[in-house]
Amino acid sequence: MSSTKQSNYYLIDCNQFYVSCEQVFNPKLKDQPVVVLSNNDGCIVARSKQAKALNIPMGAPFYQYAELFKKKRVFVCSSNYALYGDLSQRVMSVLSRFSPHFEEYSIDEAFLLLESEDPLKIAQEIQQTVLKWTGIPVSIGIGPTKTLAKVANDIAKNTPSSQGIFAFKDKEHIDAILKTLPVQDIWGVGPRLSKTLNAAGIRHAGAFKEAPDLWIKQQGSVTLLRTAWELRSIPCLSLQELPVPRLSITRSRSFGKPTSDWNDLAEALCSYAATALSDLRSEHLLPSFLTVFLMTSAFIKEAYHNSITLTLTEPTSYTPTVTSAAKDGLRKIYRKGYLYKKVGIILGGLLAEGSYQPDLFSSPTKNTAKQAKAMQLCDTINQRYQNKALRFASEGIAQSWQMQRCNVSPRFTTAWKELLTIRI
Ligand SMILES: [Mg+2]
Repeated sequence: MSSTKQSNYYLIDCNQFYVSCEQVFNPKLKDQPVVVLSNNDGCIVARSKQAKALNIPMGAPFYQYAELFKKKRVFVCSSNYALYGDLSQRVMSVLSRFSPHFEEYSIDEAFLLLESEDPLKIAQEIQQTVLKWTGIPVSIGIGPTKTLAKVANDIAKNTPSSQGIFAFKDKEHIDAILKTLPVQDIWGVGPRLSKTLNAAGIRHAGAFKEAPDLWIKQQGSVTLLRTAWELRSIPCLSLQELPVPRLSITRSRSFGKPTSDWNDLAEALCSYAATALSDLRSEHLLPSFLTVFLMTSAFIKEAYHNSITLTLTEPTSYTPTVTSAAKDGLRKIYRKGYLYKKVGIILGGLLAEGSYQPDLFSSPTKNTAKQAKAMQLCDTINQRYQNKALRFASEGIAQSWQMQRCNVSPRFTTAWKELLTIRI
């Protein structure tokens, strides 16, 4: 490795993120077969190394493996997204200390752009700091472009002797590795494109990056050409340092048990709307329209699904206005007698607060300031006391439609009542 400073992309990926989150607060799960289930304990969405070794496939329905889990003493966790989301933010805040050039790529992955004489050393420091401060183990791939950092990360993850860190040394090193990388494993090359490439006799990344630009562009698009350039160590993908502004927000979930009850549906819908609106308020955005949707399971004889879109007289994030519109919408698409599996809301046409044209025909909104104050108070209280301490009556009290979660771990980091207790 040369001793001059080099600029590199670092892809930091949390190892089996959901499982690791569960292990942070339950050391009994360390080095054990552990799986995490999706909402309503439906499918397997994360597996520990030991669970992978038992050939438990990702995405498989839980019930098919319930027997095996008992026999092999596999620990089963319901998903606890409050915990995972919070730990993710903690990992991201540690990572962002290492470079001002930082991109949060997904819940458990981030890119950093860093200049250093000794990339391996700084990677070790990142890995140790994240582990020490959050308890989450990470793998780090280092390369001159994002695409090469992704390749390096896969190697780091799949090579036990690498201790979770892999860096390309020089051009020869990159070329040697790319010759062993099948085209279908290149980031951004899907199964369809890899078929085309294979048919043209291009089987590995080394051959792909040497193909003529024009030909590559004809096979895919300019995106595929960018990938080729990135493999040639020419950065074409910059860091998305600013979050992309959202176009809409959707909140919906499957019910623990299907329901035909109007009150259940209306409560769930209002509760999703309230959560979505509080998220929008924190981003200073106002929705201009809403879509309400409702569905039964698609696999039953009497299946039904429907949706309706309503325009708000004025863009607003005032919860009572939006929930009452949402209920009007639901009333129009609700049919008695069906067993509904899911209800949800999409808030769209998002505008920045203060940037919209007020409605000429609506009464002067002297209440707007009052409404904004009430919502602000509500958000502040809910932030401080967690678990929606302050709720709108329309969201219901008992919330019997809530999800089924048989093995959910406590929200160790976001709920006072669920803090870890230690017995001495
Ligand atoms: Mg991961």
